Amino acid sequence: MRVITTVRDMLDARASWAAFETVGLVPTMGYLHEGHLSLVRRARAENDILTASIFVNPTQFAPHEDLERYPRDLPRDLHLLEDCGLDAVFIPTAADMYPPGFATYVEPGGSLTSVGEGASRPGHFRGVATVVLKLFQIIQPQRAYFGQKDAQQVAVISRMVADLNLPVSLRILSTVRETNGLAMSSRNTYLTPAARAASAILYKALLAGKQAFESRLSEGPAGVVRTMQEVVASEPGATLDYAEVRDPDTFLPLERLQAPALLLLAATVGPTRLIDNFLLRADGTWETGTLLDERDLS
Ligand code: AMP
Repeated sequence: MRVITTVRDMLDARASWAAFETVGLVPTMGYLHEGHLSLVRRARAENDILTASIFVNPTQFAPHEDLERYPRDLPRDLHLLEDCGLDAVFIPTAADMYPPGFATYVEPGGSLTSVGEGASRPGHFRGVATVVLKLFQIIQPQRAYFGQKDAQQVAVISRMVADLNLPVSLRILSTVRETNGLAMSSRNTYLTPAARAASAILYKALLAGKQAFESRLSEGPAGVVRTMQEVVASEPGATLDYAEVRDPDTFLPLERLQAPALLLLAATVGPTRLIDNFLLRADGTWETGTLLDERDLS
């Protein structure tokens, strides 16, 4: 596995892969877990050449957020990626990605960024879209892999790919969960044991929301939202940021309980802000994620 640390070297490596049909990319911020590795394994099976990127992207963090203390363990990440059979890992520096004078950003607009994570984290999706477009330009993947866990990121990047006619196919994979239902996240390392136990409430709230949605006994999306709010409120260790039912593509609120739909939650548990979602696809099937069994956690 090649470890590539400059944009120049990554462009050269990409040029050397011209004869291969498919290059896959898994963009990450590192501190890898089973969620990331599920993307990497799928991507490995589907592409001739596979690259992952590890870059804690400063432009998607607000000044008060956790850029400096974001968890990092590069030796471990490299070991895990090597085991998955990657061809290359791209680990640029912020100075190389955003050199002095950098001034061009992708500004995702409309309903997609004025609500949810966009409202709670102003500028976040501008940073995400900008870095993902840069990675697409540098690595020119035929396929790029993202997690459903970050549903609004999926919507923003899908919109960008369509709007800017980017020649890349997106693969969205299901959320990998710990055995108590907590969606795996690098930030889960901030959780104390008590907060980790309390964090299971997000999954419980989504399950209750799904049940309310399916029973149609609740009075439309507002009833589903209320159900999720009540479940989160029952856990003293969790503070709800938002519970919503939205269209997965536009992020507009749903008027009626119909597919497709996203049940969305954000809550602060102890020191950490957590997000999670269930997706009801247009065909009426649910994407609720995959629970790791105990063996995989050992
Ligand atoms: P991050 O390193 O948090 O930026 O995540 C890199 C990629 O992994 C993103 O596409 C995430 O949506 C995806 N991802 C993060 N957590 C999970 C998870 N628990 N299950 C599936 N994909 C995930």
